[in-house]
Amino acid sequence: MNQDKTKFIFVTGGVASSLGKGVIASTLGRLLQNRGFRITIQKFDPYINVDPGTLNPNEHGECYVTIDGYECDLDLGHYERFNDIKTTRWNSFTTGRIYQEVIDRERRGEYSGHTVQVVPHITDAIKENMLRTSVEHDLDYVITEIGGTVGDIEGLPFLEAIRQLKWELGERAIVVHLAYVPYIAAAGELKTKPTQHSVKQLQSYGIQPDCIVLRSEHELSPNLRRKVASFCNVRPECVLHSPDVPNIYELPIKMYEEGLCDVILRLSDIDPASLPVTESHARWHKFVNMRREAKDELHIGFVGKYNLQDAYKSITESLSIAGVYKGRKVKSHFINAEDITEANVAEKLSGMDGYIICPGFGDRGIEGKITAAHYLREHNIPTLGICLGMQIMAIEFARNVLGYKDANSTEFAPATTNPVIDMMEEQKHIAKLGGTMRLGGYECALRQGSRVHNIYNKVNIVERHRHRYELNSCYIPEMEKAGMDCVGHNPQTGLAEIVEIPALRFYIGTQFHPEYGSTVLNPHPLFLGFLDSILK
Ligand code: GLN
Repeated sequence: MNQDKTKFIFVTGGVASSLGKGVIASTLGRLLQNRGFRITIQKFDPYINVDPGTLNPNEHGECYVTIDGYECDLDLGHYERFNDIKTTRWNSFTTGRIYQEVIDRERRGEYSGHTVQVVPHITDAIKENMLRTSVEHDLDYVITEIGGTVGDIEGLPFLEAIRQLKWELGERAIVVHLAYVPYIAAAGELKTKPTQHSVKQLQSYGIQPDCIVLRSEHELSPNLRRKVASFCNVRPECVLHSPDVPNIYELPIKMYEEGLCDVILRLSDIDPASLPVTESHARWHKFVNMRREAKDELHIGFVGKYNLQDAYKSITESLSIAGVYKGRKVKSHFINAEDITEANVAEKLSGMDGYIICPGFGDRGIEGKITAAHYLREHNIPTLGICLGMQIMAIEFARNVLGYKDANSTEFAPATTNPVIDMMEEQKHIAKLGGTMRLGGYECALRQGSRVHNIYNKVNIVERHRHRYELNSCYIPEMEKAGMDCVGHNPQTGLAEIVEIPALRFYIGTQFHPEYGSTVLNPHPLFLGFLDSILK
């Protein structure tokens, strides 16, 4: 295959976490794409969880889902939104997953009696997976982000794998190190010492970075850059500055001006002058300009239970991106469903232009969400229900329109006599096979003439799922008679995917997660349609 030509860029981080390594990796990917290269990005995380599916969104942010049904780190969402690519389970690894793979092999006797060790067995498994995507796809660059900070004990096997690959791949391996330059106010100075130490640490593992990106809120003088270059054995032109930006989508513009892509091209022995930017560069610029110009605000309330900026990351980003295309600045606001009661719902749900009823698991905040849905439906306020949000819409409708007072999901009320949301036969079958959730991309056929059909402007779509329970088909005829239509079905199983009330401005619930399929250059139609209904 083409593995011989693929180049590998490893992105490590030093000094502190939260410097935006994922965004730098995504930016690098975008800049390479804007020069016509085919890329992918993958992440290797040092934690032991086999995948992030079980991590609490309040602690770790949202769990992102790939089209092939893998639950992974939210950074993969950045990769997809920036780079307009579809990642898969082979773009996301954790230490836990690597160990599981090695231990499974050991149990199958594949190591023929040898002692299984971190080096070479774990590092070999890491290397194999670092190279895998390039073997399966025809790619020019594979960008690999290493989670955590250089110096963390748990990141060592990943760094050892990179050291070996740098040796084995020669010029085809490039290491970009992202470090932080703090400003000491008392001294009135920017300090490079932490960067020097983090690079020394990297060198002590046998890795020499080729390019150093310095995160700093302040301008960096040529002198400071030269200093970093000479102390860290890097060419001065390979020391770059990543400044603060008003929003992450400006970073590809900034880093283009800073010359990040040119540095990488020169390190790959390509003359940057021979490769003009392509049309996607202009499209990105246009997006950023529209974003700068969008002044009028739209406010969207998130009726949910996770009060963390990152917990609904893909939804907030999808809305914000769609807003740009509508010339609006979208602001998302968290409304804690647990605080909503019949008595205060009007006050809690005031002042917003539209509402999202958020996805989620477990019964915390469920009654508050149902109360909210009731209010939003009766007041004809634009509302999009996502996954659990769609289930809530159906439960509320069954209770207050169909009159089934105990309508519920068997997730929260296993003994309810009206299981409007339940595990369907198809699901029970999947559960028996060991999988418990409907995960990843599934087909959906839209009803001709429905609102969603209009919005998508096509009949057959594929959207990503992450749930156990389903709308119970027994209730659909009654719901339809009363005004809530079920306008999307999975063609293979018949499972319901979308509900809408055509009589309202926008009252749509999707069993799938449209937010996973929205990118900067291709905003998702449902979010555009949602904003359209508000602006009308
Ligand atoms: N808890 C619900 C289910 O499992 C919805 C999940 C979700 O919102 N992602 O079906």
